[in-house]
Amino acid sequence: MLAGGIGGARFLRGLKSVLGSGEGTDGSDPEITVIGNTGDDITLFGLKICPDLDTVMYTLGGGINEEQGWGRAEETFSVRSELAAYGMQPQWFGLGDRDVATHIVRTQMLSAGYPLSAVTEALCDRWRPGVRLIPMTDERVETHVVVCDDEGRRAIHFQEWWVRHRAALPAEAILPVGVEKATPAPGVLEAIEAADFVLFPPSNPVVSVGTILAVPGIRDAVAAKTVVGVSPIIGDAPVRGMADACLSAIGVETSARAVAEHYGAELLDGWLVDDADAGTRVEGIDVRSRPLYMSDPAATEAIARAAVDLALELKERA
Ligand code: GDP
Ligand code: CA
Repeated sequence: MLAGGIGGARFLRGLKSVLGSGEGTDGSDPEITVIGNTGDDITLFGLKICPDLDTVMYTLGGGINEEQGWGRAEETFSVRSELAAYGMQPQWFGLGDRDVATHIVRTQMLSAGYPLSAVTEALCDRWRPGVRLIPMTDERVETHVVVCDDEGRRAIHFQEWWVRHRAALPAEAILPVGVEKATPAPGVLEAIEAADFVLFPPSNPVVSVGTILAVPGIRDAVAAKTVVGVSPIIGDAPVRGMADACLSAIGVETSARAVAEHYGAELLDGWLVDDADAGTRVEGIDVRSRPLYMSDPAATEAIARAAVDLALELKERA
């Protein structure tokens, strides 16, 4: 599975309860490998922060702030207020005290020379997410957004656009800086090749799934498999977050059909849309409708089951 943050992590919970129950083709529990987006990564106060990897790790490991969907449960913010008291910038990023410990461990291991994939594995030793979590690349890729306002046209870090400006500054372009020179992290291409099928959770199609697919080699490897995606768009709106602002920036309409067309039939074999979008047709892609709100564990599990069933059906047909 390719995954961003909240949408990916929540879907994975459902997928774990579907696949963790011994439905492997040989009767064993199938293994889930998650290729995580690192385009949202940012270095603040000398700390390397990987928001999407951490959201997956905390959610599956039982450490997430459930209401918020990101960050640690029962978090406090003393470090942030002490930094602010020194006038340190930026002050718009919600850096929690518990979360800081994760970033310190990560930064220290990276400074000691370990690649991000090894660091992620080490962090997962504590959280035991029950899936294999691999960053899309060990190299630095950072999504930047080209905006234009009174201060002129400039590229700002994705997090500044998303968190500070709530994606309200119109974006002219969204660029995963460094991606063309990046290589997939060890194990990424092997996991895709060995996979029975690949799933796209309802993650942001531009800055989560899109960024992972932009790492040279990943898109082609994925396209060779049976691929089923779950629409992050219901009706004409993202369920949570501001994915519509990302889609407008790349000239794609905010609809389940437009997102499937954007991925394209060479990539996607099956596409789940919400019942509100029943009747959606996309040339070359098998579209099915069903409720897609991940409102509780049972609803989420049912969505994951539908995605797995469709993938198995399409794989059989291929
Ligand atoms: P982020 O990195 O934390 O922004 O998370 P992702 O990229 O993994 O997922 C964000 C996307 O999840 C948003 O575009 C939402 O539209 C989508 N999403 C969130 N909750 C739901 C849900 O309950 N159902 C569906 N279909 N999509 C959802
Ligand atoms: Ca993200």
